[in-house]
Amino acid sequence: PPDVEQLGRSTWTLLHSIAATYPTTPSAREQADLQTFMSTFSRLYPCWVCADDFQGYMAREKMPVGSRDAFGQWLCEAHNAVNVKLGKQTFDCSKWQERWRTGWKD
Ligand code: FAD
Repeated sequence: PPDVEQLGRSTWTLLHSIAATYPTTPSAREQADLQTFMSTFSRLYPCWVCADDFQGYMAREKMPVGSRDAFGQWLCEAHNAVNVKLGKQTFDCSKWQERWRTGWKD
């Protein structure tokens, strides 16, 4: 099986990058695509315990697809839930676009 840490870093990069390039006002088609992608992703992710927990998170916390910032915030909180589970520091979600879209100001 793939290395869970390396897989995780690569996958978070992909997911936050998708959020960063998601439209600010997505069409109905784009919203449906994101919904389909994320639910399929949660079933195919090749770390089964991770996938199981992530499916549970998605069932509890309704994923918004109506705008870039709503989805990006949700994804940041989902990532923080994993950070907490693993005993890692949480990330300040007000800074998600700075980290993944616009780049740090300093
Ligand atoms: P990562 O957590 O991979 O983060 C990469 C970078 O993202 C960080 O360096 C930081 O710059 C940024 N970042 C950190 N937090 C946030 C945030 N909240 N929002 C935005 N950006 C942020 N591992 C397990 O052992 N058990 C699991 O159950 C598990 N579940 C996972 C579920 C999913 C859906 C994914 C994608 C990964 C999962 N992982 C799991 C892997 C785990 O989350 C980490 O990717 C892995 O431990 C490597 O961690 P890291 O410290 O290198 O940073």
